[in-house]
Amino acid sequence: MTRNPPADADLRRAIDPVICYPTETLPAPDLDLYRAAREGAHETASVTVPPREARCFSVPAGSFFRITSVEGPQVGDLNLWNATDLSERFYSGKTRALHGTHLTTGRRMWSSFPHLRPMATIIEDSLDWYGRDAFGGSVHDVIGTRCDPYTGNLLSGSQYHHCCHSNLTRALAGHLGASIREAEPHVHDVLNVFMCTGFTRDTGQYFMKASPVRPGDFLEFFAEIDLLGALSACPGGDCSAEHSSDTAVCYPLLVDVFTPRIGALAGWRSPDRNGYDGSHGL
Ligand SMILES: [Zn+2]
Repeated sequence: MTRNPPADADLRRAIDPVICYPTETLPAPDLDLYRAAREGAHETASVTVPPREARCFSVPAGSFFRITSVEGPQVGDLNLWNATDLSERFYSGKTRALHGTHLTTGRRMWSSFPHLRPMATIIEDSLDWYGRDAFGGSVHDVIGTRCDPYTGNLLSGSQYHHCCHSNLTRALAGHLGASIREAEPHVHDVLNVFMCTGFTRDTGQYFMKASPVRPGDFLEFFAEIDLLGALSACPGGDCSAEHSSDTAVCYPLLVDVFTPRIGALAGWRSPDRNGYDGSHGL
């Protein structure tokens, strides 16, 4: 049973919140430079991600990658690694702490400790008009983890093999020539591309709703370091009803890589690893 509130409960609740991580001192991306370089860039790779599957793709530092909705509304679960050191990978939780629950143009995907540096910067988002809806929902979240067979088993006893976690694991294993057992620990919390999500106001529960994405919509990134990416076309489709099953209608997603002309990024260099000395006081 809930306790009776203290006499000053309303006063305590009325205290103004403070932003945990003000971002004024965060190194700002030079979006004008990135966009100018993108103008003259040419396509160097194209990968189609089939429904309920995932595919890997490589993006050299200083190149761009674009995720596009094709054929029908579809959500994608994105993992990123340092191409030469898989222990450096996308850190969804810290990205959320820095930028908020959803990402859009100008926001960055930050890497895990002890690296904590930008891996990729969003340079264009065709769904940036969506903003935040009346339910508190928005697009491209870093709050969901990825659909996975373990939670499905926990809640319903299922043995479903095409959740994003499994799709990403199979794709990475295939790319590395590694076993499923070797690949699985590298799969991590995702950027939910095109997914529309939020928290319910009354119970604070994670919710999803039909994605506003339509064929032709895209999210485009600048690779700050050499990247290995993996994208899963979620079995939830547009995530309007359910995931972790073969029920939803699903569509492919397209990943295109673009490389700028030599000299187009004059003055830019890949960000250094985090400057903390790593001694932890010892
Ligand atoms: Zn999924």
